[in-house]
Amino acid sequence: MINLFDASEVNVRSLRYLIASTRGHCGRCGEETRLVALCLPPGHEVFELDEDAPDEVNDGFWSSFPRHVLLFHVNYLPDAVLRRLHQATPSYDFDPSDEVSCWANHCEHCGRAQDDNELFCEPEGAFLPASAAGARLIRLVAVDEPLEAGAAGFAYEPEYFDAMVRG
Ligand SMILES: [Zn+2]
Repeated sequence: MINLFDASEVNVRSLRYLIASTRGHCGRCGEETRLVALCLPPGHEVFELDEDAPDEVNDGFWSSFPRHVLLFHVNYLPDAVLRRLHQATPSYDFDPSDEVSCWANHCEHCGRAQDDNELFCEPEGAFLPASAAGARLIRLVAVDEPLEAGAAGFAYEPEYFDAMVRG
């Protein structure tokens, strides 16, 4: 299941998180490049607006989700989390060129920002594997630190999630 939100501030939080890493081919130059994504474990919370409430009291509420989620279209990240991501790949960087500015993987060869829609929403995208074998190319490393972020894209336990490699 994939949800898309309009988010520009912190709207997701978790007591711990995971860094998903894999490799993919750049959408421009075709060279192989490292890719990372944030994953939150069951129990993470997402800020939701109460659609039934009148506008003047509509300040929303935090909901807990019982499944893993991969975040994309990330537009806010604390520095501590960014440093962790940079340990996996230094080419994860802010992309102001996108119509909605957000953090993105960049090609290690040509520098091009990689499109989150292709990575997370297209079948056989780097983070949307179409087989268990494809999922085994993705490694999940747990980080026992809290996280707050702003994200517009949520991919809840994509198919073959259990086949991703832990540790
Ligand atoms: Zn490239």
